[in-house]
Amino acid sequence: MRPVVVPFFIPHLGCPHRCVFCDQEKIAGAKGMLPGAEEMQAKIAQYRESSPGRGLEAAFYGGTFTALPKPDQQYLLGALQPLLASGSLNAIRLSTRPDAVDADTVAFLKAMGVETVELGVQSMNEEVLRLSGRGHGAADAERAVGLLQEAGFSVGVQLMPGLPGDSAERSLASLDRVLSLNPSFLRIYPTLVISGTGLAGLYRAGSYLPQSLEQAVSLCRRMLLAALRARVPVLRLGLQPTAELEAPGVLLAGPYHPAFGQLVESELFYDLMSAMAADLPKGSSVGFFAPPGRISDLVGQKRRNLARLAEEFGVTVTAVREDATLSRSGIALEWSGGRRSADLLEL
Ligand code: SF4
Repeated sequence: MRPVVVPFFIPHLGCPHRCVFCDQEKIAGAKGMLPGAEEMQAKIAQYRESSPGRGLEAAFYGGTFTALPKPDQQYLLGALQPLLASGSLNAIRLSTRPDAVDADTVAFLKAMGVETVELGVQSMNEEVLRLSGRGHGAADAERAVGLLQEAGFSVGVQLMPGLPGDSAERSLASLDRVLSLNPSFLRIYPTLVISGTGLAGLYRAGSYLPQSLEQAVSLCRRMLLAALRARVPVLRLGLQPTAELEAPGVLLAGPYHPAFGQLVESELFYDLMSAMAADLPKGSSVGFFAPPGRISDLVGQKRRNLARLAEEFGVTVTAVREDATLSRSGIALEWSGGRRSADLLEL
């Protein structure tokens, strides 16, 4: 069972500058202050009480942890050491920039019991990185991933399709290059235009055109499939919906949907469902089987996938059930002629 994450937001702390698309305070709703030791310990104790029997993982998000002044890093991680030692806390993860990782950083994080580091890579295309004001290149990402992997960290990579200068081809090429580094997992956040950011200015001036929701879903579907084939899990697709992000005037444009990940997963499932149903006689009634927990991905939002099967192939889905024998990427179909199974990896 995955540990319960105890989040500590450190919005923009440690960041050398603001990247063109970023406003952590608006997307995460936290203010830019370091949490205090007592506050962290109390929060972990509270999670321990509300999640009996589950492992706990402290997670520092929203800033550049490894570029914080060293005493601050020492303070934050130091406060967690007694909890790690006593077993009240089981793991620590943090996110940072690729150019804020060097051999000393890696040794320090290792000594402080950090297990997972997420790198905001965003793109591996130099022009996209430059236009997004990242201040680092693709080689920094490769070097950081290598250093962390050599030291035994679990390394996650965050990518942002749709940044200034990006295209579907560039996003897919970035993904390929990242997958060749064999990261432990990915998070994919299509670029949104948040008020007050540099990107908002570019958007208002007509120099930046965001992806439509349809374009972003279609691209992320291809990215998800590539990651699936490479056996690299995608832990998140699209920003977490928060009251702050959804507050009036915050999100100016871009492919936002509160259940973006499910839109993408459902598209992938529909491709497989339609391939399985394409040669059935029109008017067939079928039942579909999904792996545990994936019925909503198969059915689609507002049962869209079932409606599309009826429209495009004249096939009526009369039942959808879970089947625990299926792998997470497998589905099965039953109709009067028998049963057939298929896997997303075959797409
Ligand atoms: S994207 Fe990362 S490095 Fe850039 S401003 Fe935001 S938190 Fe800081």
